[in-house]
Amino acid sequence: MHKQFLAILAVTVPLGVGLQPIVAMSEAPADLIVTGAKLATLDPDRPAASAIAVRGDRIVAIGGDEEIAALAGPDTNRVDARGRRVVPGFIEGHGHFMSLGESLATLDLRSARDWNEIVAIVRRAAAAASPGEWIVGRGWHQDKWTSIPADAVEGLPRNVSLDEATPRNPVYLEHASGHGVLVNSLALKEAGITDTTPDPPGGVIVRESGGRATGWLVDAAIGPVSAARERAFAALPADEQRRVLVDQVRRAGQDALSKGVTSLQDAGSSFATIDLFRSLADRGELPLRLYVMIGGESNESLERGLARYRTVGYGGNFLTVRAIKRLVDGALGSRSAWLLEPYADDPGNTGLEHEAVAMIGVTADLALANGYQLNTHAIGDRANREILDLYERALRAHPETRDPRWRIEHAQHVHPDDVPRFAKLGVIASMQAIGAASDGAWMVKRLGEPRAGEQTLVFRTLHDAGALIANGTDVPVEDIDPLANFRATVTRAMADGSRFHPEQVLTRQEALATMTVNNAYAAFEEDLKGSLTPGKLADFVVLDRDILEVPDEDLSKARVDCTVLGGRVVYRRAGESAC
Ligand SMILES: [Zn+2]
Repeated sequence: MHKQFLAILAVTVPLGVGLQPIVAMSEAPADLIVTGAKLATLDPDRPAASAIAVRGDRIVAIGGDEEIAALAGPDTNRVDARGRRVVPGFIEGHGHFMSLGESLATLDLRSARDWNEIVAIVRRAAAAASPGEWIVGRGWHQDKWTSIPADAVEGLPRNVSLDEATPRNPVYLEHASGHGVLVNSLALKEAGITDTTPDPPGGVIVRESGGRATGWLVDAAIGPVSAARERAFAALPADEQRRVLVDQVRRAGQDALSKGVTSLQDAGSSFATIDLFRSLADRGELPLRLYVMIGGESNESLERGLARYRTVGYGGNFLTVRAIKRLVDGALGSRSAWLLEPYADDPGNTGLEHEAVAMIGVTADLALANGYQLNTHAIGDRANREILDLYERALRAHPETRDPRWRIEHAQHVHPDDVPRFAKLGVIASMQAIGAASDGAWMVKRLGEPRAGEQTLVFRTLHDAGALIANGTDVPVEDIDPLANFRATVTRAMADGSRFHPEQVLTRQEALATMTVNNAYAAFEEDLKGSLTPGKLADFVVLDRDILEVPDEDLSKARVDCTVLGGRVVYRRAGESAC
């Protein structure tokens, strides 16, 4: 593990706490005890134990079954883990909480077998909707269908059947690629798109031979429809807007907890969204712990709001706001990641600077002046170098800064010369191993070899160079499932079974650390979370199989049996009676 990190753990964990399971007899009995477990504590003072005692929202003791059972009273909730593996609650290192909720609140079209099935789903949704309400679906892909409609244009359906299904509701069906949507005629009308509207730069309004727009919109042509949806939402009464957003929070929370995620590091929310989180935290209605990076605010807005919004451990450690998110480049898929050398499949293109480095430099000064962490999205090797340079300049100009822990979000393609700089500057690499499994194959097309292998998601290389790696999924880009991300971290297995540069895998212990203790450290929360240590929050997960021991091929079968958050069982798998 990261040497600096171990040293910090050693000074912040009170001496000997991890070694003393016995709680003074005068104290009240435990509220919850779990015995018969194989604990992966992630606590170097006591790496293995079989039982855990909880009082209130805290772990009060870790030890053997007998000594922990002695802490129970008549009202203690007892759980027999029956030999199962128990790990600290997973911390999602980089996710988009409200986007996850929004995606879960829309029609899921991923498993539709043909276009008729999708039209039927839309018709049912329209029957339950009020006139004018937007009907939104996602995830359809014509390659998964058993047949394509006979009147298809460029292989995709026309929107005539959608118009018949619901003439009174605008319909917006997002393609699985994220690069196109199929909308009905009412949605086109509300977006101001007619048959004669010219294609925007970087976008296509697909038309049939007579010139009629089919409803299929590509890339930049989606913009006006998205804007129409936003206008419709903004026109709702305030209490209705709140109802929609609270529903998204609830759905995102349920999904996260069902996968063992007890804390989420939200990679960019506006002040308005943070206001919502705060009001929910006041009522104890945040479903899991959020560490929020402020996103999408101008430097002027940050200057006005940073001091007021900074909050740590609010609402019983459910809301912390002390980080700012910036984006210096785009992504590899759209060839907008900012590279040192051109794309292998697009010579002459080196991607782009999305938000200007100079503007992010101003943000860096604001972060330093207000005690904020700065977390910048950087995918390409040029983007990573620019941000390392910027962080180095900013921190050198402020040598009084203690323990900034600034992060690079994604750190996806890093030039070998820049690898040692992460440890040297104390910059955290906040990465997504799942990307190696999902996107490895086409990353090679974009970058070519050996560049792809030497620079892409180099977990092993960065780890061995002393960098602290935080790990996440970028949900909803990927499923929030930490077990899938764990498998990707330790195997880099792709869908076809082949492995994307397996020399970059981490060991299972190292991988588990990237999702627990490392993420806690990356949010200044190592005294509170990330390991099963007396005094820390009682956030942990019971797994149905031992992800530290089972063969690689069984990792994909691993499931969460129960999730405990602040000492309360907040998720129990169907049919799971033990906890
Ligand atoms: Zn993201």
